[in-house]
This record gives sequence, C-alpha cells and structure tokens, in this order.
Amino acid sequence: MNEQAHKRRIALLGSTGSMGVQSLQVIAQYPDLLQLEVIAANSSADLLIQQALAYKPNIVVVVQEEAYRKVKEALADEDIKVFCGEQSLCDVCEMECVDMVLSCIVGVAGLRPIYHAIDCGKLIALANKETLVVAGELMTRKAKERQVPIYPVDSEHSAIFQCLAGEQFNPIEKLIITASGGPFRGWTKEELQEVTLERALKHPNWNMGPKVTIDSSTLMNKGLEVIEAKWLFDVSLDNIEVVVHPQSVVHSLVQFRDGSIKAQLGVPDMKLPIQYAVTYPLRLENGFPRFSFADYPQLTFEKPDLDNFPCLRIAYEASRRGGNLPCVMNAANEMAVQWFLEGKIRYADIPSLIEDALAKADYCTPQSVEEYLEIDRQTKQRIRMGE
Ligand code: MG
Repeated sequence: MNEQAHKRRIALLGSTGSMGVQSLQVIAQYPDLLQLEVIAANSSADLLIQQALAYKPNIVVVVQEEAYRKVKEALADEDIKVFCGEQSLCDVCEMECVDMVLSCIVGVAGLRPIYHAIDCGKLIALANKETLVVAGELMTRKAKERQVPIYPVDSEHSAIFQCLAGEQFNPIEKLIITASGGPFRGWTKEELQEVTLERALKHPNWNMGPKVTIDSSTLMNKGLEVIEAKWLFDVSLDNIEVVVHPQSVVHSLVQFRDGSIKAQLGVPDMKLPIQYAVTYPLRLENGFPRFSFADYPQLTFEKPDLDNFPCLRIAYEASRRGGNLPCVMNAANEMAVQWFLEGKIRYADIPSLIEDALAKADYCTPQSVEEYLEIDRQTKQRIRMGE
C-alpha cells in the first residue's frame, strides 16, 4: 500500500451477507488508508440502504430490479450513484476509481465479476469460494497472465498466505488445512440420520451465513477449501492434508521441504483475515479480541472421519478428476443444501445427492466462465427435474 500515493479504493461485492457486513466494519476502521468506493448486493434492499447511509460509498449496485427501485428512491437525496443489474457488477470492477475488488458474493454469481476484475488488473481480495472451486484453472491462469495478486479472505487460506510471507523462494512440501469438524464431530451414522435443521445451523466456533454453516457441518466446506488452496498456492492435492482441530485456533499450517512447519493462530474471528487481505502487506493495529492460552488450555488435533462425512472425500475425487466435475459437485451441493434448508431432504441425503449428480455428469473441460455457468445451471436443472 505504501507504493500508492492515494488510498486503496475498494469495491465490495456482496456487502449484505455475513462476510460483507464484517468487511464494512473492517474497512471503516482505517479511513486514512481505505476508501469504500462501491457496495453491491443482490436483493437485500433495506440493509443495503442502511449500509449506504452509514458508510457513504460513491456507488451502490443492486442486481434485482425491484430492490434497485427501492434503493434508488431511498438514496435520491444522497450524493451516491445507484446502478442496477448483473452487468453493473462487472462494470464497477473496471472503473478507474477502483483499486481492489473484495468479493463476498456467495455462489457462482461471483464468477463473472471477479474474472472481469482480474482481466482489468485490479487487486483481488477473495471470500467467494466458488470462484476458485468452480473455475480455479481459468481464474489463476488469467491472474498469472495479468500479474494480478489474489489475496485470500477465508481464514484457512489467509493463514497459509501469512505463513508464506518471506518464503517466496522456499518450495512448499505440504499444506495442512485445519477443520473444526463441525457440530456433528464424533457422531455415528445412525445419529447423523436424525440431524435437524436447527441443530445443523449452530456452528460451535464460527458465526457465518446458513450455506457455509451447513457446509462446515458436512465437511464439504473443507473440501471446497482444499480445492481453493490447490489453485491459490499451486500445490497438488496429494500435498494438501486436512486435520480436525475443534478449537479453531490454529487456522492452518505450511510444511516446507526441510520439514519445518509454520502455523498461524488467533481467536476465531473472520475480521482478522478480512483485514489482512484489504490492508496487505501491512499489519495494522485493531481492537479485536486477543488469544489467551488461559481460555484454551488444550489444542487438539485428529484425523477427519471420511466414512461418516463423505463430502470431503467427494471433493478430493472431483478435484482430482478435474474438468467440469468440481463445478457439478458445487452445483449439486448448493441444491442439496438449499433443499435441506427448505426441509425438502434430510441431512443424510446431502452427500448421496451430490454423488448421484457426479455419477450422471459427462466429463468435459470448460474454457470460459460462460461454459462453467451453463454447467452450473444444467446441473441444478437436472436435479430439480429429478433426472
Ligand atoms: Mg474457512
């Protein structure tokens, strides 16, 4: 950031989700260094209006038309431009007034704007998992070509990124990604048959949106993170290990070729990884709670249970086979989680629905964001139609 004469100007996509809300709080801490240029959301008009009035961005983007009209009217007296539609998400990414795009969008809706932002040479701070899970090859190739850095926001990837500081000439031998194990760690198959929605939505350590909370409980979230790590750090799947660490204090680890392991620790709070991404390479003072060993007398580690939580295994397999399969897996998982949240399927049906979609998918190697989005759409359509 020192090389820049002006403040780092940020476009925050997905400002009304859990990560977006926390990102706004982080950005507001450093008015001398960071400027909120754009906030964007799909349809949460009321929250978006509140955010616009509180944080005063110069531009607000609303994807859904009805919500756009509401926001536009509410902000009529403000010196804030309001844009509508999905294309506007891409348009703001190329604006001269934006240095960094922070994507907290949930789902494949994040693909197009981030690919465009990379193509326009913007700094990327990435909280949207799907970008790399679905189209990691395409995204990282473009980022290399444009020499665009992608700063991870996910706590595990931020931990790895922090462990790699100063190690650019030292090859990685292994990445060790920690998982909390979720609320059902240690449960038997029989017990997992009885999981209710209410129980699944209670995560022991992290306060997150419903989709990622369910994904954490099935370990699919860890599977998605393994795939993300593979692309972000250019490490083969054989060299990425998952270890269950229920206290979520060690956020992940890197083993170098001399056998030395570096870890990053801290209290479980997403604000720290968000801050490191948006202020990188600086470490700035903040008032976040500090870690104390007195609060955590024991830090424990164990192997993940792949028999009772098959989603992690499914993710490794889909990523190993590559092509469209991680995209199919992600789409099927989104449908499965949505149906579980709507009470249409049982918790134990989530992995089988995903495996079924993967078994029925024809292998191909998509070459563009549009092709990936089409595979996502088709996979969800097929599942809906019960094909
Ligand atoms: Mg994570």
